[in-house]
Amino acid sequence: MEARQGSRILVVEDHAGLRAQIVAVLAEAGWRVEEASDGRLALQMALEEPPDVLLLDLGLPGLDGLAVCARLRQQADRHIPVLMLTARDTLHDKGRGFAAGADDYLLKPFAREELLWRCQALARRGELGRSHVLEQGPLRIDRRSGAVFCHDRPVDVSGHALRLLVVLAEAWPRTVSRSELQQQLWADEPPESDALRSHLYTLRKALGPSQSLVKTVHGVGLRLDVPA
Ligand code: CA
Repeated sequence: MEARQGSRILVVEDHAGLRAQIVAVLAEAGWRVEEASDGRLALQMALEEPPDVLLLDLGLPGLDGLAVCARLRQQADRHIPVLMLTARDTLHDKGRGFAAGADDYLLKPFAREELLWRCQALARRGELGRSHVLEQGPLRIDRRSGAVFCHDRPVDVSGHALRLLVVLAEAWPRTVSRSELQQQLWADEPPESDALRSHLYTLRKALGPSQSLVKTVHGVGLRLDVPA
């Protein structure tokens, strides 16, 4: 079976034996697998770094699968495909799962192939929904080529300044804190404190007359200022 190289999946299952089994099947098929056994931790992990698919058990300590799914739908700034996993095969439970925002359902016990097929289908659906062209107000950003247009005029921006713009556009309408921006731009190796400021200056200069699109929210961070 074709492996989905590099797609990330978060496996949330409190039964250690079953979790290990699922993780092994997915890893063997080429998935990058992360795991959690507790609902609260799973929600935190999924919000901090959204996986391509979330495999979510219904009965969990901390926060059950339905609550994790419902909160994810409220708090995540993009749609994370959720495959709900449960032994409770009644129609009632399925209905509750879908009402909480699950995309698909898998009943225990399940065949290895069915697990892989369903995960792959969800990841594919997620990809289709994520276009490489990002449009916010007068801005159009092609994430693949790095081309940026503002009011249909090309904007000459690249490197970290471009990355900064993409992070803000993806997060819109949220204000992104300085620490989160540093994390997104430099991961675990933050440079000296003025680097962000200098890239912000470069970005604003490139935007020219539209530089007020990148707004400083004092004491909080930066936000893309385009109408909703
Ligand atoms: Ca369970």
